[in-house]
Amino acid sequence: MELSKRMSQLGTESAFQVLARAKGLQALGYDIVNLGIGAPDFHTPENIVEAGRRALTDGWHFYTPAKGIPQLREAVVEDIEKHRGVRVDPDLVMVVPGGKPTMFFAIQMFSEPGVEILYPNPGFPIYESVIRFMGATPVPIELREERGFSFSADEVLEKITPRTRLLIVNTPANPTGGVVPREELDRLVAGLEQHPQVVILADEIYSRMTYDGLEHASLLQYDSIRDRTILLDGWSKTYSMTGWRLGYGVWPAELIDHAERLQINSNSCASAPVQVAGIEALRGPQDAVEAMMRAFDERRHAIVEGLNAIPGFSCTMPRGAFYAFPNVTGTGLDSKHLEEMLLHDAGVAVLSGTSFGHLGEGYLRFSYAAGLDEIREALARVEKCLAPA
Ligand code: PLP
Repeated sequence: MELSKRMSQLGTESAFQVLARAKGLQALGYDIVNLGIGAPDFHTPENIVEAGRRALTDGWHFYTPAKGIPQLREAVVEDIEKHRGVRVDPDLVMVVPGGKPTMFFAIQMFSEPGVEILYPNPGFPIYESVIRFMGATPVPIELREERGFSFSADEVLEKITPRTRLLIVNTPANPTGGVVPREELDRLVAGLEQHPQVVILADEIYSRMTYDGLEHASLLQYDSIRDRTILLDGWSKTYSMTGWRLGYGVWPAELIDHAERLQINSNSCASAPVQVAGIEALRGPQDAVEAMMRAFDERRHAIVEGLNAIPGFSCTMPRGAFYAFPNVTGTGLDSKHLEEMLLHDAGVAVLSGTSFGHLGEGYLRFSYAAGLDEIREALARVEKCLAPA
């Protein structure tokens, strides 16, 4: 078969491969603690499951409008107003199957040879993968540990050239748990006024997942860039609904029809009963979300403390999401080697920092979407595995 050249440019998300390997080893009888995958380990709250079940019984079996059912888009508008203090037009909301389609569509819309797209590194691997796949040039924004894995707005602005069309910002972030402080966003947005051709993709899929009372600072809150900001959010993380596949984008008026055409050409629409369950998630009781965040916070402290006790590891406290990103350079081993060694010798699945871009060298990603007992067991195994013989 003669595949298109473009196929060789498409990367992947190694979390799925590590998950498959961990499951394969488990099936062979190995005892594996999996801290590799970015999916909350909680059951989807029962009121949401019940709404989905009822929707199937009530006959939600057919295509919906491509942008999603109006009641859900209205619920999204209310939710954005509640959590970001901004009122958006429901006609600019497009519901999609998960967080990824908004990202895929946005990158697709602006990519062609010669175009530069700025993206976080280390960052969610799909950004770089899709930018390359679409033939554009990925330009990394370096996220450094000493800045709490945020960026310097000045550094971002310096990277903008006349060829830059899209800037991707992810806060709170995967894989680092970093959060971009509001002052840095202020500086970035002020500088973006000099670059009116740059569209912003704000990936805020972890918007409800911040700690210590930290308020989520959203790029949607800046009037000066509202007409060129694409907001990406969804249900996967907040409501522990990764397998349901439900997300949304809020698009600038100039882009929404293009986004809708991309949806019609690919997914048609998000699953109808899942959309109905999505309304219940947003409008129903939120206590399960709060309980989940309390559990994540307890695990966050346990894992960071445990990682810092391992010789050769040092870990800063993440401020959002559910990932710890320890610096492992003190072990003298490279990240990929450590990932392999921990899986095979310690039975602990984690991800090499390089799964998130070349600037992830020297780090590992531990997802703390696992129970405290599993986290403690994983830490003990890692420490034992790395102890001098
Ligand atoms: N954006 C970021 C930063 C993520 O970490 C993820 C999932 O891990 C996504 C988007 C995609 O979310 P979904 O699983 O809903 O497609």
